[in-house]
Amino acid sequence: MTETSDGKINLLAFDRKAMEDYFRSIGEKPFRAVQLLQWIHQRGVTDFAQMTNLSKALRARLEELCEVRPPQIVLDQRSADGTRKWLLQVDEQNRIETVFIPEEGRGTLCVSSQVGCALECSFCSTAQQGFNRNLGVAEIIGQLWVAVRELGDAARITNVVMMGMGEPLLNFNNVVSAMELMMDDFAYCLSKRRVTLSTSGVVPALDRLGEVTDVSLAVSLHAPDDALRDELVPINKKYPIKELLAACKRYVGSDNRRKVTMEYVMLDGVNDTPAHARALVKLLSTVPSKVNLIPFNPFPNSRYRCSSRETITRFSEILQAAGLITTTRKTRGEDIDAACGQLVGRVNDRSRRHIRLQAQSA
Ligand code: SAH
Repeated sequence: MTETSDGKINLLAFDRKAMEDYFRSIGEKPFRAVQLLQWIHQRGVTDFAQMTNLSKALRARLEELCEVRPPQIVLDQRSADGTRKWLLQVDEQNRIETVFIPEEGRGTLCVSSQVGCALECSFCSTAQQGFNRNLGVAEIIGQLWVAVRELGDAARITNVVMMGMGEPLLNFNNVVSAMELMMDDFAYCLSKRRVTLSTSGVVPALDRLGEVTDVSLAVSLHAPDDALRDELVPINKKYPIKELLAACKRYVGSDNRRKVTMEYVMLDGVNDTPAHARALVKLLSTVPSKVNLIPFNPFPNSRYRCSSRETITRFSEILQAAGLITTTRKTRGEDIDAACGQLVGRVNDRSRRHIRLQAQSA
């Protein structure tokens, strides 16, 4: 992996436990770990010489063994609506995207978990790029590190959503470790309600997630029945809706201690009729959840169109009349291709899917 260069250990890759283990392993006191976390994540310091509460000897030792190496910014784009998108170089061949979305009273950072995506959701442009590899912890938390530095004020990022490129549950350990850092009091101090993992529904991993963390969950449902969901989100063939919703219920817990939001992309004439809305109401009647309608964002060669505004309103009204809390996501950053499903980065596609798709459309 890319956690090291020149044989040095990238300390950006360590959550608190890993940092403590590391200090122990080099014969240092584990309490040094929180000092390091604060220097790196709260103060943005990458130069050990500046870490003045460590002894000179320890600073010299760290200099020799370690580094703090964030991903490099290749491009910084600003949308007319204030959305910002960074293209980050993670290795010679691969680039990922991270998006900051400012809103009244909050700022959300949308973070990538993989280089490309191995799933083949038919309405998502990341899918068309194919897949190369998982991101390491340093590359995931590094997106937050970079954004905080670029925005100049950590307080501007109040929420993080794992909704960038990739399926976070297929990069389980690294994503969990990075989310630990997001919530750590010695790093980014975000509450579990403000860190959201979005998944297409990898059921066994969802259960494992519930065993190790309490982050908020978003599920890319997008269809009220298996036949349609098989087509839109093909992983449904492996983990059908019934199993997925049962896992969501387990995640919420009997005491409703965790939050689940169902995401539903609005595709013109595909999943947006009143009958679909009513089926969705029925389906969600036993799962405590909210619904977030996402207007479809088009991309080159996409075969769908977004539902009309009236259709989205009517759909939303049916859900609300049935008592489901329903919001419609505002499309942001379209002019810089930063909206949902538009993140592509640059992927050295090992699945060769982009070649297959080019052949199909030729
Ligand atoms: N792989 C994860 C997270 C990434 S996508 C997941 O599937 O949940 C974040 C959200 O954007 C998902 O709900 C995804 O289905 C949605 N999305 C993908 N392409 C889109 C598009 N073109 N327009 C609108 N939403 C899209």
